[in-house]
Amino acid sequence: MSESMTVSDPSDAGERFARVLEILRARINKRQFATWFQPATLESWEGADLVMGLPNRFYQEWFQSKFSELVREAAESVARSPVSVTFEIRSAKTEEETAEPPQPKTEEPAPSGTPTDVYPSPFPGSGTDDSPLRLNELYTFDNFIVGPSNSVAHASAKGIAQDPGRAYNPLFIHGAVGLGKTHLLHAICHEFLARFPKERVCFLSCEEFTNEFVRSLQRNDVDSFRARFRNVHLLVIDDIHFLKGKERTQEEFFHTFNGLYQSNHQIVLSSDAAPNEIPTLEERLVSRFHWGLVSNLEQPETETRMAIVRRKAEIQGIDIPNDAVEFIAANFRNNIRELEGALLASKALSEVLNLPIDLDLVKKAVGPHLGRHTVNLDKITQVVCSHYQVKISDLRSKRRGRSVSLPRQVVMFIARLLTNLSLDEIGDHFGGRDHSTVLYAVRKVQSRCDSDPTFSATVDRMVDRLGGRVDPK
Ligand code: ADP
Ligand code: MG
Repeated sequence: MSESMTVSDPSDAGERFARVLEILRARINKRQFATWFQPATLESWEGADLVMGLPNRFYQEWFQSKFSELVREAAESVARSPVSVTFEIRSAKTEEETAEPPQPKTEEPAPSGTPTDVYPSPFPGSGTDDSPLRLNELYTFDNFIVGPSNSVAHASAKGIAQDPGRAYNPLFIHGAVGLGKTHLLHAICHEFLARFPKERVCFLSCEEFTNEFVRSLQRNDVDSFRARFRNVHLLVIDDIHFLKGKERTQEEFFHTFNGLYQSNHQIVLSSDAAPNEIPTLEERLVSRFHWGLVSNLEQPETETRMAIVRRKAEIQGIDIPNDAVEFIAANFRNNIRELEGALLASKALSEVLNLPIDLDLVKKAVGPHLGRHTVNLDKITQVVCSHYQVKISDLRSKRRGRSVSLPRQVVMFIARLLTNLSLDEIGDHFGGRDHSTVLYAVRKVQSRCDSDPTFSATVDRMVDRLGGRVDPK
């Protein structure tokens, strides 16, 4: 935890913060402490202002609503004066470094001096030592759920881990934040090392590459910076878009790239955009990135998201029923990290309330986080009617016939998915139909989604248009 502290007087603030944590550890139960406080860091504590860093907005909102008093009291008892506490979401970089689940994990770092050591050292300030390769043990191919949105990227990642330097060089994976780039990059390293344990692997973020390079310039020692990459068999650089606007580093990377490429050593890069969409990236780099394979990670489909939630739950030992998995998958569509956040928030609430995780509990846990878009029956009806080109009044009438009954069933299905409304409440909206009619509709649409991918995609698109957000009660 101390690694991420950035305080003006680290020893003093750090010590005080450690005492605050001790007090809190004594005041809440062990599992809660592990879930919530393990990932918390001290950002700063200057005067009366304590700023804590948290991994994401779930944590932030949870702390604000559940722990702010407790933390303030503990801080005041340490400071012996009033303290104002704020909870901030840590920057993406810090987040990346601590992107492990909050459960304590026993990690055996590779012993120093083995071929798995990385050059240059990813740890700021220690540019000369060998350092163990820092890989998240959970970011493996086994734990990566494959679906249409990521199957090409997954297959190419596996391909190069098995046949490095030959299949495609470089492999360039791009996609929006939270779609699994870093996970795939770690998986490549794991698999490569399992197959070629004697080979040298270097994994670092582009930011680390840049910082190391700048440091070597300051020390007037670019040669030893270059030497570090000379014997690397697999070079993996995460978030290469960080090169944008950094001409000197781009030039250096160009030489590193050429050296490795000529020796048939594998290069893997990730980026938030395709090579030609990274602004101010030199043309010669753009063209080199296209020499190999450029593959894209897309937003995962509902089934993939559900499978991911299930796998994450399994890894965390969380028991969660299907409808709750579906609810999470339906409401967090754009970023897989958010799926995990929802799962953890549910787990935490189940511990606090000492209740099993079910759909209601999940809604309670994540409901407050879903305020950005609100979905209600009217909006769902509008979207569905405009898709099927039927009149809203027809849908709400007693009319039967396929042209209205299918859209009506779809509205009921989406309403179950995206709102907290009960079957009866949904039935009321359609002229007092009873809950068994609604249940029948929901099941029917579900089974058709399962058997008819085109229909399923259509429903997905409507859910997408609705923003996939619930209207919290
Ligand atoms: P990115 O680097 O693209 O921002 P990450 O690799 O950090 O995204 O992924 C964010 C989270 O989502 C990680 O916890 C990762 O394990 C998880 N994740 C992403 N894609 C998948 C997938 N296909 N299967 C399982 N977990 C996934
Ligand atoms: Mg990443």
